[in-house]
Amino acid sequence: MPIVNRIADLHNEITAWRRDFHAHPELQFDVHRTAATVVEKLKGFGCDEVIAGIGRTGVVGVIRGRKGGGKVVGLRADMDALPLQEETGLSYKSTVAGKMHACGHDGHTAMLLGAAKYLAETRNFAGSVVVIFQPAEEGGGGGLAMVKDGMIERFGIAEVYGMHNYPGIPLGQFAIRPGPMMAAADHIEIAIEGKGGHAARPHLAIDTVLVGAQIVNQLQSVVARNVDPLESAVVSVCMFQAGHADNVIPQHARLRGTARSLKPEVRKLLKKRIGEVVEGTAALYGAAAKITYTTGYPVVVNHERETAFAADVAREIAGADKVDSDVPPVMGAEDFAYMLNERPGAFIFVGNGDSAGLHHPAYDFNDEVIPLGTSYWVRLAETALAG
Ligand SMILES: [Zn+2]
Ligand SMILES: [Zn+2]
Repeated sequence: MPIVNRIADLHNEITAWRRDFHAHPELQFDVHRTAATVVEKLKGFGCDEVIAGIGRTGVVGVIRGRKGGGKVVGLRADMDALPLQEETGLSYKSTVAGKMHACGHDGHTAMLLGAAKYLAETRNFAGSVVVIFQPAEEGGGGGLAMVKDGMIERFGIAEVYGMHNYPGIPLGQFAIRPGPMMAAADHIEIAIEGKGGHAARPHLAIDTVLVGAQIVNQLQSVVARNVDPLESAVVSVCMFQAGHADNVIPQHARLRGTARSLKPEVRKLLKKRIGEVVEGTAALYGAAAKITYTTGYPVVVNHERETAFAADVAREIAGADKVDSDVPPVMGAEDFAYMLNERPGAFIFVGNGDSAGLHHPAYDFNDEVIPLGTSYWVRLAETALAG
């Protein structure tokens, strides 16, 4: 049973929605146009309930099946874009300078809308489908905001599923795994205080550039020498700000980065060792370092039973040999993790083919994914709620 026929018929319409979202990217919780479009469409499809403003700008639609009773299954998409300048030259490229749908959330939102349209037309299931459109996946924790707003209890969601496109996985394929699938990502901010001075008289100064450079190097020893080599961890310093002139030793320097892990004990170890290394290294040079360690998204942990179920649905759509049900975890983070912490469910990757990578200025969601991803959503709902 490959692509659902009715979904194939909707391909052009869903593509047009996707490209409209692509041309109008919005950031974080400020997804007002996107959310308003989603609300308008869900109402137009005849959803039984459409509620805006959950988790600030999140939207939820409820579609009741015609077989009555049954449980409630949540399907989730994300709506936000990224703060970068698009370099695709596409006819539907971003109309907003410095903002771009470079993670494919335009495609995720369009596909879930397509599924909602089909499910509201057919209603060939028991129980209810709750379609969840969240803001602020890219760093704002919009998924957590919706959970904190009581979404899970309010709609009685029993299981929850998510999907993300994945460049490099061939078009027509899915990938998933039970257990940890994406990493926890914590945020590190380090403020180094030294002693500013003349570049010609370093002995009278405490050079924060040198201290910062040593900290960047020493931090790499945490993964190399403290984490069990059979476990996974990444520490990346991605910002280093210091100085304004070539002859002034700067008084302050600032570093920022992320620490990622797949297990709670590794996550704890990273936090402890990063703190010790930063403070110890600064002290070695007579500087002071203040570290702000902020807990970010938790690990995306797929539940065993729901993952096997999702993989079966994907096989039904794509073919038995087109679903990798034991894909290695990735060290990127996803705030769908918060929903999976509340209810059993599974997160799946759908191949975006040979495109530019996620968050790249030349990235574009592959519209050929639409029939596949949308068919996956509707079959997943109909099968989970077969009654
Ligand atoms: Zn992203
Ligand atoms: Zn994303």
